[in-house]
Amino acid sequence: MSDLRNLYQEVVVDHSRSPRNFGRLAAANRSAEGFNPLCGDRLTLYLRISDGVIEDASFDGSGCAISTASASLMTEALKGKTEAQARALFSGFHALVTGEPGEAGVPLGKLEVLAGVREFPARVKCATLAWHTMQAALENRAKPVSTE
Ligand code: ZN
Repeated sequence: MSDLRNLYQEVVVDHSRSPRNFGRLAAANRSAEGFNPLCGDRLTLYLRISDGVIEDASFDGSGCAISTASASLMTEALKGKTEAQARALFSGFHALVTGEPGEAGVPLGKLEVLAGVREFPARVKCATLAWHTMQAALENRAKPVSTE
């Protein structure tokens, strides 16, 4: 696990130990399940969307530090965003952690702390699981999302 040390920046550690927005969201009107078989990360994402705006977001499940921190940071970032803004954030975040081209000029704010994941290809799916699950929730997909 020593190769992960560089990833464990202060913010990531904090969000993995004390995830924000953790727990079922009673008022949710969208939800989706995600699974990353490579690592064993599982999560359920809950969204409350009104007039195309994500008013609230939460998640539960269990996963590694990176997947938990990413879901925690994502739920914080999604609140108050429109569905289009949420998709643009995902595109920007995906580009950040994979190094592949994506949506340009999307301000990622605190999500930038996960940039180090790029150095650890096996961890990219941990970091993007919550986002793939968010996309499924927006599309009301019933089938659980798998990163494989
Ligand atoms: Zn993981």
